Amino acid sequence: MYVIKGRVIDGNGGAPIEKGAVVVEGDRILEVCEEKALQVPPDAQILEVADGTVMPGLIDLHTHIGGVGKLFTMSPHEATARALPKLKEILYSGFTTIRECGGIGVHIRSCQEEGVFESPRINSAGMGVFQTGGHGDALNGMIMPTGIPKNLLTTWGLCADGEAEVRQQCRYTLSQGADFIKIATSSGVNSRCKTVNKVEFSDSEVKAAVEEAEHFGTYVSSHAVSNGGIKLAARNGVRTIEHATFLDEEAVELIEKAGAYIIPTFALAKVQYDMRDRLDPLVGKKIAVAYEAHCRTFELAFKANLKIGVGTDFFPGPDNALEMEFLAGLGMDPMAVIQAATKTGAEVLMRNDIGTLDKGKLADIILVSGNPLKNMGLLRRTENVKVVMQGGKIVKQL
Ligand SMILES: [Zn+2]
Repeated sequence: MYVIKGRVIDGNGGAPIEKGAVVVEGDRILEVCEEKALQVPPDAQILEVADGTVMPGLIDLHTHIGGVGKLFTMSPHEATARALPKLKEILYSGFTTIRECGGIGVHIRSCQEEGVFESPRINSAGMGVFQTGGHGDALNGMIMPTGIPKNLLTTWGLCADGEAEVRQQCRYTLSQGADFIKIATSSGVNSRCKTVNKVEFSDSEVKAAVEEAEHFGTYVSSHAVSNGGIKLAARNGVRTIEHATFLDEEAVELIEKAGAYIIPTFALAKVQYDMRDRLDPLVGKKIAVAYEAHCRTFELAFKANLKIGVGTDFFPGPDNALEMEFLAGLGMDPMAVIQAATKTGAEVLMRNDIGTLDKGKLADIILVSGNPLKNMGLLRRTENVKVVMQGGKIVKQL
């Protein structure tokens, strides 16, 4: 039995318990209470640090385990070998679960579950489904090597045009173990398209993907940067809208009506924006337009109380909490940011056994030094994450 003491932020959005404790037995949370109400059995191991905060393990809803850019076209074997140390880093930085919006995760998920390597829990779309010439078509990638035959087995995506092909590729990727379907309803920053304002796929194609996903008991996630692409996704039943860059009031209303989630992924955009002068000139130009618009329009989302999740669009690594710091910096309430990275993350994953510190849930818990409600940026330094517990097992203890 473990007793983790500190300021308890349970992920449900209420005020923290300033002097609290979380009791863990086996793989589950047994109790969350005030420290003074606690009766500690003599054999319990106490975990405590100065000015410590106990929180649910963090959830990054938008990663690419197979890497970014050219890495998308390497073999799944090489991508896996490169990913393993990164998965350990992100786990040690406090992320106990990640969702992968396209990539190799479906193939290595079971090894994570068996404890073959140290990693967050993995939820993965496998290969995404994209239109020919669209954002995920390897032939269209600004940063991909050219000359790759259509539908070559990359770690990244499949092409489909028309309702029938969309259904076929969705069925294929789901049969390969995808936890959900990833599509793109707009162009993006890192593909060859000259604009970030293009719409991709049609209403009937998106509807077909949503129907196929629902038949498998799951949902569709769409890369949607352009305003038209966001609206296309929202009006056709897409459940998670990735990036949601060019928002306006009409788009916010549609998303709200659909009950969809947005995953803004500022982290990668910020990194690319800061190095825009060193990027391919077209990518640099597009990132400037997209990033500046996104920072301007995001307020519409949190003021309307849209359901917002935390996702970085990063390869997993030690700095994925950058997204949380960034959201707080844009004016989102710090407690809402923590909820986005915990409870909302679990909701998106359709898991009710993780995401909050409540009796009976799986013990995915972190103990950090300092108070993230006052300084979200402290989560970006892995040395501040003193304990990481995953399913009741301590995987990191400083
Ligand atoms: Zn992505």
